[in-house]
Amino acid sequence: PADWLPDAVTERHRHESAMAGAAERYYEVAPQIERGWRELLFDGTGRAYLDLVNNVAGIGHGHPRMADAVHEQLLTLNTNSRFLYRALADYVERLVALAPDPSLDAVLLVNSGSEAVDLALHLARVHTGRNDVVTLREAYHGWTIASDAVSTSAYDNPHAAATRPEWVHVADAVNPYRGRHRGPDSGAAYAADVERLLTALDEAGRPVGAFLCEPVFGNGGGIVLPDGYLSAVYESVRRRGGVCIADEVQVGLGRLGHVMWGVEQQGVVPDILVVAKALGNAYPLGAVLTTREIAASLEHEGMFFSSAGGATASAVAGLAVLDVMRDEGLQHNAAVVGDHLAARFAELATRHPIVGAVHGTGLYQGVEFVRDRVTLEPAVEETEWVCERLLDHGVIMQSTSERRNVLKVKPPLTLTAAHADLFVDALDAVLNELESRTA
Ligand code: PMP
Repeated sequence: PADWLPDAVTERHRHESAMAGAAERYYEVAPQIERGWRELLFDGTGRAYLDLVNNVAGIGHGHPRMADAVHEQLLTLNTNSRFLYRALADYVERLVALAPDPSLDAVLLVNSGSEAVDLALHLARVHTGRNDVVTLREAYHGWTIASDAVSTSAYDNPHAAATRPEWVHVADAVNPYRGRHRGPDSGAAYAADVERLLTALDEAGRPVGAFLCEPVFGNGGGIVLPDGYLSAVYESVRRRGGVCIADEVQVGLGRLGHVMWGVEQQGVVPDILVVAKALGNAYPLGAVLTTREIAASLEHEGMFFSSAGGATASAVAGLAVLDVMRDEGLQHNAAVVGDHLAARFAELATRHPIVGAVHGTGLYQGVEFVRDRVTLEPAVEETEWVCERLLDHGVIMQSTSERRNVLKVKPPLTLTAAHADLFVDALDAVLNELESRTA
């Protein structure tokens, strides 16, 4: 409850404060978080919360190795990226070594996911000489002018679909659970829709320059794309001379557990791969990985320069993240604890009819709530209620997807099986309470 929190930031306070109204916030009464440790957050009273939504803090909160590395770097050299220094050279090599394919051996560093998507679109434009981009419905790719233009999600902007600039073309959201085509074999049907859109663009004299999507549809609620979808779409795009961009900002870098990158789940290699969020563990860092050939196209435009992108401390922060991921086996942990969570969610679904589907893999999962398993009516108010009640149980959880009826489960990759159980037990109790109230 708010009254024992000192100086609680309520909605009322927020409106009176200097925080811009559109800035995202959650909860009726937001907990005031003061400390973090691994997958735990602590408020000003010392109360602990389990952080189930933080896909930025991949290596967990308060990691001493990262703190020490950045601290040391700030004392030694903290400057922009005009110079070549060891950490930067090491870091780009480490990123290339992690890439899903050796062809992605050129790296550009920026400060966020939005910037990385923007730069990817820019690269595609200068490389192909074409402006037109195909993106998916229900997608979010960022807030800059270009990354916002290809964002179609009504969650962030209710007018999105109707207000895209003329160079943006929108293909259907891929959702084998509730989309236009359903079931695990729906990949070919979704890909055929994109092929038709691309043909229409050819006929209109605007051949596709780039196709962009998340290889696991994070913003859709953690939807794993049906087999064969991306290989068919990438083939259609490349046949026409376009390039394929994979936005791995949410789902990439080990979070999916059994694969390092979402594109591996689809068995494809993009021409441009975009990564951010977990890359810097909340230190501002984003990267674009592409082929030398595509990167060279940018040189015709002059130089690329981002003052803080790849600056000394950012490179060191990025290296520390990769070191910790490797030394603590965090991708492996995502696979093991993710499988455990999936099994527990599947069991919950047998007892709670509101659980319509469980999406995702590893430590990127979505628990979708429906009022009816036949009509799939989204249980929107119930989802919000569950999130609020979970907070009372000390679990931080938020809703996602266009319909706001999916719990987004994307914790730090340090999540233990014991903490996963604590969360699922709390969810079970909250769903029991919900059912007894509505019975
Ligand atoms: N792409 C995807 C898929 C994202 O989820 C986000 C952020 N939610 C972005 C891009 C933009 O990243 P950032 O907030 O770091 O600018």
